[in-house]
Amino acid sequence: MWRDSVSDGLVQIGRRAPAAATPVAASSTPADAETSPAEGARVYVETYGCQMNVADSDLLLGILGEAGYRRTDRADEAELLVLNTCAIREKAEERVLARASELAALKRRRPGVVLAVVGCMAEHLKAKVAERAPLVDVVAGPDSYRRFAGIVGARRSGGAGAAPAVVDVKLDRAEVYEGLSGEAGGDGVSGFVTIQRGCDKFCTFCVVPYTRGRERAVAPREVLRQVRAHADAGYREVVLLGQTVNSYRHEEAGFADLLRAVARVDGIERVRFTSPYPVDFTERVIDVVADEPKVCNYVHLPVQSGSDRVLERMRRGYTSGEFRALVARLRERVPGIALSTDILSGFSGEDEDDHAATLALMRELRFDFCFMFSYSEREMTYASRRIPDDVTPEVKKRRLREIVALQETISAEVNAAHVGRRERVLIHSRSKRSADELLGRTDGFKAVILPRGDTRPGDLVDVVIERANLATLFGRVAA
Ligand code: SAH
Repeated sequence: MWRDSVSDGLVQIGRRAPAAATPVAASSTPADAETSPAEGARVYVETYGCQMNVADSDLLLGILGEAGYRRTDRADEAELLVLNTCAIREKAEERVLARASELAALKRRRPGVVLAVVGCMAEHLKAKVAERAPLVDVVAGPDSYRRFAGIVGARRSGGAGAAPAVVDVKLDRAEVYEGLSGEAGGDGVSGFVTIQRGCDKFCTFCVVPYTRGRERAVAPREVLRQVRAHADAGYREVVLLGQTVNSYRHEEAGFADLLRAVARVDGIERVRFTSPYPVDFTERVIDVVADEPKVCNYVHLPVQSGSDRVLERMRRGYTSGEFRALVARLRERVPGIALSTDILSGFSGEDEDDHAATLALMRELRFDFCFMFSYSEREMTYASRRIPDDVTPEVKKRRLREIVALQETISAEVNAAHVGRRERVLIHSRSKRSADELLGRTDGFKAVILPRGDTRPGDLVDVVIERANLATLFGRVAA
């Protein structure tokens, strides 16, 4: 999912798969009278960035479905074009602006089409989105989706293309979209459930608290309702989402309690969560990972750097020693646990010793895989105001290359060690490469390709791994 980010710092999650003009799933809330003149209009959504954005696009499709929109995977036949965007690195924003200009060409051919830029980049650039992409009609932040159908409806009846763009980027400390079902997204086997919005960590490099606002928790009963809805719709796995998912707290319930409750929902066979924050990984959470059989033995734990000086400048709240101790504790309590991480290379002030410390930490901890990024200064952050971005682009590029090369070697070795093993695999879908092959995932989140045989998406099967490369395992169903 984040793998492409190695090359350019941005991932397009991809256009949504279903056939053209499939109805958007209805939820239990009746359509708001104000927002329903859209009967029969079609919406096209493109999603950029992280899993939370993917989940938000599904939420938005649910909200628009209530208002009468039907989803299409063809931009040229839609009345409403939505780009759900990411602001985490500068390239992410540049790419969306270029895409907005491309889509604007469709507006010229079909007057009345509304072009909306929503999500983190909308929140980050606000009205500047419309200055830099003049044909954008609506700019809406991550807390504006409840009003979105109304905003678009007003724009459509007022005449799209009429200047200036409508900008709705008010953040809301209470908005968790409770009661809205959203479209059941994902691959039909594994689905996302957002349990927390926003972030309170304020790491000095990171724009998220400014684009997604302050941290808030979705009530446990609402989370469980959505997990049950996934189970009822035939999903076998849920992935709980939050920016620092394990800092979750809602009244008396902490993350460990919620995770345990979710793991006990009938019909759900696997539970994952992303991304936990190292400081909030309590012993109670480790207990749940260790003893709830349905909670996968896999954790994505963003470390960012192996240098204490850099970690301090980033205000991560832990030292590399504390991070190592946490990894040791996880490996002791959950033998064989798979671990992945994020590395942010080339942050302000990072010198060769700091970089060497990151490489050393990677060699020592041997993550299963890793998402690797080069620092990109973001307006609004503490670093952009106070810590000059002083590592040259050439040095950043070289350090990232070294990090990527090291991780490729480690991932290839870790995967090779799986050859000959038997792994429990949840089948997710057909493989993209061939109709005769399926794509599944191990408990440790490794992609497995296997011949189709009698196996179908949703099945949990034992697979013998026969070969591996640095990204994928290949095997067949055990006899
Ligand atoms: N909540 C997560 C961060 C999510 S953003 C955490 O615990 O850190 C995903 C990743 O993007 C981060 O882990 C970081 O490695 C990267 N990232 C964040 N800000 C960045 C920036 N300004 N430049 C480059 N990469 C960045």
